[in-house]
Amino acid sequence: MTRALLVALALAGGVAFSAGIDALEQPSAAGQAPLEPDAAVDSPQPAAPPSATPTLADLAAGKLKLVDLAWPLNDKSAYWPGENYQPFELHTIATLEKDGVLSKTFSSPEHLGTHLDAPNHFERGKPSVDQIPAEDLFSHAVVIDVRGPVSADADYLVSLDDVRRFEREHGRIPQHAVVLANTGWSKFWKNSTRYQNRDVRGRLHFPGFSPEAVKFLIDKREVRGVGLDTLSVDRGISRDFPVHHLLGQAECYGLENLAHLDELPPAGFYLFVAPIKIETGSGGPARVFAAWAPSDATGGDGS
Ligand SMILES: [Zn+2]
Repeated sequence: MTRALLVALALAGGVAFSAGIDALEQPSAAGQAPLEPDAAVDSPQPAAPPSATPTLADLAAGKLKLVDLAWPLNDKSAYWPGENYQPFELHTIATLEKDGVLSKTFSSPEHLGTHLDAPNHFERGKPSVDQIPAEDLFSHAVVIDVRGPVSADADYLVSLDDVRRFEREHGRIPQHAVVLANTGWSKFWKNSTRYQNRDVRGRLHFPGFSPEAVKFLIDKREVRGVGLDTLSVDRGISRDFPVHHLLGQAECYGLENLAHLDELPPAGFYLFVAPIKIETGSGGPARVFAAWAPSDATGGDGS
């Protein structure tokens, strides 16, 4: 009974949220009687408490919890340590003192800091970052906590068992969601040597997703993407990058180097993913926001 109610609430939340987005795009089509012009100004409605069915109006009114999952970009930002990759660079080209205006120029690999991997990153003929449909960038999301196993094994892979355990505890992952993994690796973000975690032979050691888990999420849950708080959705020691290939083939995206995943509820939140729109790009630095109603009860009830 409780679970059925929670699922209904979660579904209703999705509908209400979608309706909110529709209402923004088509303000005259929201199906509401128009307000008298001065009624809107003179008769403010009493503030309603945040509900378990958040809307964009709740978000705009500051009633939702909102977490920025992106790290700031600077010359220390971690990036994939490949040949020809360069650190982020920022140069001032005009100053208030000299020019009356502050302006800068920057350069960066696409795969630096908090960023999105587009389907064409590993797969020919698949969408580039600018071709990802806008509607795929607004999603339900969940976060699977694997900090425990990762603390014992830096090469840990988020497993199908982890996904199943998550669903037993928090309910079925919604269709078209983005599935995040909190590996705890973000605690090394400020120390790039530790974040890369190379062994004596130069191989990287950090956790990632298992191909089995990602295949399940793509085939059975129709996810839009997966993301985590390390340099790569494939673990550091991977040589063949199976998760990147699976995501690209399915026209899903990856999110890497996410921040603040420990501030999220396990489920019942929404993700806004805003990658830089580089034409033909294989990905790019992204702002990623999570939002949810503070009173949302769908996130932690194991009943
Ligand atoms: Zn990448």
